[in-house]
Amino acid sequence: MRIVGLTGGIASGKSTVSNLFKAQGIPIVDADIVARDALKKGTGGWKKVVKAFGNDILQPDGEVDRPKLGRIVFSNPDKRQLLNRLLAPYISSGIFKEILKLWLKGHKVIVLDVPLLFEAKMDKWTKPIIVVWVDRETQLKRLVSRDRITDEEADNKINAQMAMDSKRSKADIVIDNTGSLDDLNGQFQNALNVVTRPLTWSEFILSRQGAFSAFAFVVLGVFVAKRISKCDGL
Ligand code: ADP
Repeated sequence: MRIVGLTGGIASGKSTVSNLFKAQGIPIVDADIVARDALKKGTGGWKKVVKAFGNDILQPDGEVDRPKLGRIVFSNPDKRQLLNRLLAPYISSGIFKEILKLWLKGHKVIVLDVPLLFEAKMDKWTKPIIVVWVDRETQLKRLVSRDRITDEEADNKINAQMAMDSKRSKADIVIDNTGSLDDLNGQFQNALNVVTRPLTWSEFILSRQGAFSAFAFVVLGVFVAKRISKCDGL
């Protein structure tokens, strides 16, 4: 199985690229959706976060008031680290479950869309790694217009993340999304060609089909070895 890493900064265009992969029939594991589920009322993650941050972060229906929690952690690095630390195990196991489901369905190539791929050290499980990069000015402009927030709030959100240039230096494939959507599409096609290349042997063995073939091969080997040893005994 080939697990492709897709990451970038906030509003760099990850979701846009992720949608392009989806349109090509390539399944996506979206860490943001997994993270949202990890904070649903009554889950282990919810209990840990409410214990650490108090009932003030809850809405009247008991769900976490995400914008409120977002404001708390984006302006305070210690609280942000605490929240990441509390949720990390639930997010990792949620992502693992999603990968397992896709493995059981027999998918050979999947894309892991994880904003904090490097920070969470998940990059070691993914190859190739695609970083969607954008210059700071464009990033700020797109974030302000998408989330309808002030320049200052957008600045806080961008500053809270690893620098985009540092992410870029760790990429196997860089998609520079500073230009138009047409330009992005062209770069996406190049990335798609790389991602859909035939699997290497190690990727094949990690796929469901490869694992079954390897298992069948071992069973056959044992069977043949037994037959040979019986023949030797005659
Ligand atoms: P991310 O998932 O990385 O946070 P998005 O894919 O949501 O980023 O993109 C951020 C915003 O920028 C969205 O409103 C999206 O429609 C817009 N956008 C993305 N790529 C381009 C582009 N090449 N040109 C213009 N707008 C873009």
